[in-house]
Amino acid sequence: AKDLGKGRHEVFATGMHTQIVKRFQLEIDLHRAIEQQEFELYYQSIVSLTTARIVGFEALVRWNNPQYGFVSPAEFIPLAEETGLIIPLGQWILQAACQQLAVWQAQFPTNPPLMMSINLSGHQLTQCDLVDYIEQTLQETGLNGESLKLEITETVAMNDVETAISIMLRLRTLNLRLSIDDFGTGYSSLSYLHRFPVNTLKIDRSFVSRMEDTDEDAAIVQTIIMLSHALGMDVVAEGVETAAQQAKLHSLGCEYGQGYFFSKPVDSKTATALLDKQFNN
Ligand code: C2E
Ligand code: CA
Ligand code: CA
Ligand code: CA
Repeated sequence: AKDLGKGRHEVFATGMHTQIVKRFQLEIDLHRAIEQQEFELYYQSIVSLTTARIVGFEALVRWNNPQYGFVSPAEFIPLAEETGLIIPLGQWILQAACQQLAVWQAQFPTNPPLMMSINLSGHQLTQCDLVDYIEQTLQETGLNGESLKLEITETVAMNDVETAISIMLRLRTLNLRLSIDDFGTGYSSLSYLHRFPVNTLKIDRSFVSRMEDTDEDAAIVQTIIMLSHALGMDVVAEGVETAAQQAKLHSLGCEYGQGYFFSKPVDSKTATALLDKQFNN
């Protein structure tokens, strides 16, 4: 039996075997992590390029596992998506982000109020009670729908256009704001873009980072901004890392920026300190 076990072991290429075991282990840990509350939200500021002030934050989930340390969302979100764990995790994220926003809005009243952007995965978007539980969360936290912006990636939105549009329209009945995330990385068809009832396009960071290298990339960024405005949308540029990028984006008419140049994603305490600094100066 021992030999058989050993032989079987060798059927797998070692690399693949390790990967399967690792994935399986990660899935078990992910289940447990939800119960043990190993998740934490980080917040990255979104800044007006005209006033240089923070207008809101994007909530970005972090998993601090006692054994592995920080696991990147790029690694565990796809897994949570495949296993359906994204549903309970997504509800926790929505609740935690809304509670935090309610605290900030009370502490730092502005007109319009500070906003929170929350990422929605494909699985969450098609979840049948999505609209109901968002409505319930808004009631519990006393927030206006307008304070919440849901980010849906271009790839997810284009995957099934008609379904995406009908869900977006239902979300809009709660006055929620909607944003197309990672714009430019998927295969958008211009004939669909104007049918999405969205307020914002987020230019993917790959274009922003190459903007100064080639004229072509600068032209792409410029075109996305012009297109958004023509469709009545505003623009957030992601991955702004330098003053030069900020200035260039501003000169192209881009309204908002997000990136390490302004702030990395930080925990709620540090984000509160950023707001404190802005409002008490
Ligand atoms: P995303 O929605 O495109 O989020 C932006 C990512 O870019 C974040 O990575 C952020 O830390 C990073 N970033 C921001 N500014 C800069 C910059 O100036 N330079 C560089 N190099 N990177 C920057 P993060 O937090 O690792 O998240 C990765 C992805 O995981 C997100 O991409 C999003 O797709 C997903 N994700 C994160 N949090 C959530 C969540 O709560 N729910 C869902 N469904 N997905 C999430
Ligand atoms: Ca996002
Ligand atoms: Ca993005
Ligand atoms: Ca991106």
